[in-house]
Amino acid sequence: MLNFRFIMEHIRNHPIVSTISIFVGMGLVSEVIWKTVEYFRDKREKASRVHEVLIFNELGEICASHHLRECYPKTLEFHCQNKYCTTKNTGKIVEQFDRAVYSIDLAIYTFTSMTISEALKRALHRGVNIRIISDGEMVYSCGSQIIVLSELGIPVRVPTTTHIMHNKYCVIDGAERVEEIRQAKKRKWMRPCHSIAITGSVNWTRQGFGGNWENCVITADEKISSMLQAEFDRMWRAFAKSETK
Ligand SMILES: [Zn+2]
Repeated sequence: MLNFRFIMEHIRNHPIVSTISIFVGMGLVSEVIWKTVEYFRDKREKASRVHEVLIFNELGEICASHHLRECYPKTLEFHCQNKYCTTKNTGKIVEQFDRAVYSIDLAIYTFTSMTISEALKRALHRGVNIRIISDGEMVYSCGSQIIVLSELGIPVRVPTTTHIMHNKYCVIDGAERVEEIRQAKKRKWMRPCHSIAITGSVNWTRQGFGGNWENCVITADEKISSMLQAEFDRMWRAFAKSETK
C-alpha cells in the first residue's frame, strides 16, 4: 500500500515520469479502441466471405418434427446434424435478408414461403428498398406472398409478354443499386455493406424447400452479384408498364 502511494506521488511530482505515464495510458486506450475496431471489421469481413451451396432433397424434412418447438432464425444457436435440413437451409437464406442494409432485388418465379416473406417484412420495416420481379401468372398463384408484399407497398413488376419469368434469384445490397440509392438520397456516404447473391433452381415454396431436388447458392462474389443486378435492372426497366403497388 505504501509502495503504491509512493509510486503515485512520484508519478505526480516527477514531470518525466508523469509524461511517460500519460503516453503509456494513451497507448493502452488506443490499443483497446483498435482491438474493438478490428473485432467488428473481422465480423463484417467474415459475413462478406460467404460462399455456400444449399442442397434440398428428400432428406430435408426428416428432422422437421424436432424443430417445431424451436424458433430459428431468432436463435443463432440453431444446430441440426442433418446436412440437408430444410429448416437450417431456409434459415441461412433468411439470415442474409436480415443482414440487408439498403436493398433487396428479387426475381422469383414462385414465392409462397411465409418464413422468407416475414424476413422481407422485417427488412421493409428497417427501411430496406425492396423490388420484386415475378411471373405474370405465378404472381397470383395460390398462397403467393408476392401479393401480400405488394399490398405492403413493395413494387412488383412482371413481363408484358407470354414468355415466363423463370429466374429464382435475388441480390442483396448490390453495389450498383446501393450507389443509385446514395445518389437518389443525395448522401455523401453510406453505411458499410456487402453484396450478396442468392440463386439456384429452388422456388421459394414449401415444396421447393421441403422435398424437391433443388439447389441454392449464396455467394458474396461481387462479379456474380453485379451481373445479376445488371439483369435485374434491365428487366425492371423493360417491365415498367406492369408495375403494381
Ligand atoms: Zn433439421
